[in-house]
Amino acid sequence: MNSIKKNKFSSANPRGGNKDRRQVKKKESTLDPRLFVKKAKPSGQEGFRTEKSFSDLGLNQKLLQNIHAKGYQTQTTIQEQSIEQLLRGRDMMAISKTGSGKTAAFLIPIIEHALKDSRNFTALVVTPTRELSLQIEEEFKSLTLGMGLNSATFIGGTNINSDVDKFKRKLHVIVGTPGRLLDLSDRKNLDLSKINTLVLDEFDRMLDMGFVLDVTKLVNRIGKRDQTLLFSATLEPAQRKLIDGLLTNPLEVNVAQGSTTNENIEQQTIYIQEGQDKFEVLYNLLSKPSLEKVILFTETKRLADRLAKKLIQVGIKAGQIHGDKSQNFRNRMIEEFKSGEIRVLVATDVAARGIDVADVSHVINYQLPMTMDAYIHRIGRTGRAGKVGHAITFIN
Ligand code: ADP
Ligand code: MG
Repeated sequence: MNSIKKNKFSSANPRGGNKDRRQVKKKESTLDPRLFVKKAKPSGQEGFRTEKSFSDLGLNQKLLQNIHAKGYQTQTTIQEQSIEQLLRGRDMMAISKTGSGKTAAFLIPIIEHALKDSRNFTALVVTPTRELSLQIEEEFKSLTLGMGLNSATFIGGTNINSDVDKFKRKLHVIVGTPGRLLDLSDRKNLDLSKINTLVLDEFDRMLDMGFVLDVTKLVNRIGKRDQTLLFSATLEPAQRKLIDGLLTNPLEVNVAQGSTTNENIEQQTIYIQEGQDKFEVLYNLLSKPSLEKVILFTETKRLADRLAKKLIQVGIKAGQIHGDKSQNFRNRMIEEFKSGEIRVLVATDVAARGIDVADVSHVINYQLPMTMDAYIHRIGRTGRAGKVGHAITFIN
């Protein structure tokens, strides 16, 4: 397997493999590599799903059909612990690891509330990333097929003028990122005072990414509302005060401590020896067909671009998503990755947050993430929905 020729890569990177390493040097991660080795303890479908069906919740028949049509037979743990209470209108603070079915947990009660008062009801779902917004709307659409409920997504990187048209009809669910939502509120297109239910998804990410001021502004403009739901993978004590100010007597649900990684993920490390070409190691790894659908993480946008280019040059179907790419481009990449046209998606942390692509077989950290939190979110892209996933971290 080591027989690949050096010159195969030389056209892609004339200065050789050292270039990548030099870039990492700038800001070296201080995380302990031992943290990234862990056997999977697959819980299979049992750990992910409960025995409880959706049929006993008294849901609208059409909604129930749509849930079943999506292949959801029984509720996941978080769904079992929250839907019933959310239907009654309670606030909630949920800590849950990624891939545990949070989206349907908050959308199902929202859909029920929208059906009960479809003329007036509006829910606002705020997310840290554009991709996550789009995925949530997609899930909403599939859950409400044929039900006459409307939704729209408002995210940065798109033409704000075409957003304005979306308000021409009654919207039951509005999804978006904080900046764009505020812009639309400033322009008086979005009336935040009319929001009944507010969902803050991946709240911890939102804080990480510096949206605190925007989120606070949004929440203040909404003012009085019927229900607030807050989802987070981790709960830092420092967030507590902020959270308490957002929620009233919330139901607190904690499904598996979010600061531990998903048990369904097999974690291993690969040490890159002095003088060894990192790209060559990657190439050898990718010669195994078992690496079917791979997300490859880098710390910088530039390296993401370069790696995608190099992979394509050596005949591996690759694409890249990062913050400098247009939204259209990012959407197309995710679609191609989902459909299998692309085998390796090279990504930076920000662009990859919240991506839910089924069957990601491997997450590879080409560079060590800066924080444990970033690591947990990266590898959380695999091992979803009770399947076993693999995480491989390169250590210099
Ligand atoms: P989270 O928001 O917790 O990261 P998602 O809501 O994105 O998780 O769900 C993860 C995956 O599990 C998605 O592919 C979703 O379609 C699937 N899923 C959600 N609920 C169920 C269910 N009850 N049964 C089977 N699959 C489900
Ligand atoms: Mg989610």
